[in-house]
Amino acid sequence: MLDPLPTGRWPVVVVGAGPAGALAALGLARQGVPVLLVERRRFPRWKVCGACLSGQALAALEQAGLAPLLDQLGARPLRSVQLGLQGARAELALPAGRVLSRLALDQGLVAAAVAAGATLVPETMAELGPADPGARPVQLRRGKELATVQAELVLVAAGLAHRCLRQLPEVATHIQTGSRIGAGCLLPAPNHGPHDPALAAYGDGRLHMAIGRHGYVGLVRLEDGALNVAAAFDGAALAAAGGPAAAASQVLSEAGFDPLPALAPAAWQLTPALTRRSSPLAGHRYLLLGDAAGYVEPFTGEGMGWALMAALSSTPLALAALDNGWDDQLARDWSRSQAALMARRQRLCQALALVLRRPWSSCVVFDAVRRWPSLAPLPTPCP
Ligand SMILES: Cc1cc2nc3c(=O)[nH]c(=O)nc-3n(C[C@H](O)[C@H](O)[C@H](O)COP(=O)(O)OP(=O)(O)OC[C@H]3O[C@@H](n4cnc5c(N)ncnc54)[C@H](O)[C@@H]3O)c2cc1C
Repeated sequence: MLDPLPTGRWPVVVVGAGPAGALAALGLARQGVPVLLVERRRFPRWKVCGACLSGQALAALEQAGLAPLLDQLGARPLRSVQLGLQGARAELALPAGRVLSRLALDQGLVAAAVAAGATLVPETMAELGPADPGARPVQLRRGKELATVQAELVLVAAGLAHRCLRQLPEVATHIQTGSRIGAGCLLPAPNHGPHDPALAAYGDGRLHMAIGRHGYVGLVRLEDGALNVAAAFDGAALAAAGGPAAAASQVLSEAGFDPLPALAPAAWQLTPALTRRSSPLAGHRYLLLGDAAGYVEPFTGEGMGWALMAALSSTPLALAALDNGWDDQLARDWSRSQAALMARRQRLCQALALVLRRPWSSCVVFDAVRRWPSLAPLPTPCP
């Protein structure tokens, strides 16, 4: 039985309890700020993601004092990535990286935020209302139950499809033409169900990345032995294949990976178009962070790192807004700093995504990586 929806005035409302929202809520709760953390879905929940924590994501978690949490949750080391293209393979060692299911990571971060004093409002849709000089109203909806809270500041960490902003006409999301669609599923651990040699071939500590003409598929073994599958496909190829399982099988076959019959019956989830950018990144009494601010194709596996870093940098700004009162300069500062960071980080991802879309350039880069693995500019290649 869930608690009734909250009402009244709250210093901070965080919309979305993914890595960005949960870590932002944790940072503020630790400073004694009453925070409402509103999440649409029932936790724990799986979501489409490669589940690889890059060096940057690990550094952000360490900065927040959460390195022991990763050990408690059973995060596994990620030692290498095996790239497959047109039947050839290249193996790259990864200097830093861990694998943890999003089910465990997100639940662990939310539990830490709640333990620090944040109030979780689960299974509830939040939507920002029109600006009010003294507060930002946030409408909450759970089934037929409705409530409105007044927030001094709203942190919007609602992921790619942030419909919570639809009453704010000034916020626009630009989706890049031809942007790929994300897809993913979980395949059972080898000790669940009949032995499947194709599944058992994917060992621990290595990300297997199949690169095809119209997308790529990454497979990695999780802490409970299940195989996490995450992919990005061209929309037209996804439709032509008849769905994500067939599109993934096609990519595996083009890359020279063995067929995986378990893909067909798996419960696949799709994402909205991936490469996008929101503008502005902040406004009167709200800041956008994580995927809500913008995202590029996930080949380099930096999304959680960006989301966690943004969460860390939102804490001092939120504290300044609460201590000194809201000033629109804060929104301008956030937009400027985040836009600059995002542009720098996304340049590499976008360049790689472009290279991988052209057969000739992906072959040239692939060949270079095979010959000189130390040249590989990949932070943590992940689907
Ligand atoms: C195929 C694929 C593979 C990827 N692989 C990797 C990888 O290996 N490593 C990596 O670092 N990144 C990877 N990413 C990126 C990573 O998944 C995201 O960057 C990361 O989840 C962003 O975190 P977030 O907190 O901003 O958003 P999310 O994790 O999407 O969380 C947003 C939350 O907000 C909730 N929400 C949405 N709307 C509302 C609302 N109105 N009210 C209340 N709650 C709401 C959602 O239910 C969700 O729980 C991958 C992405 C894709 C698509």
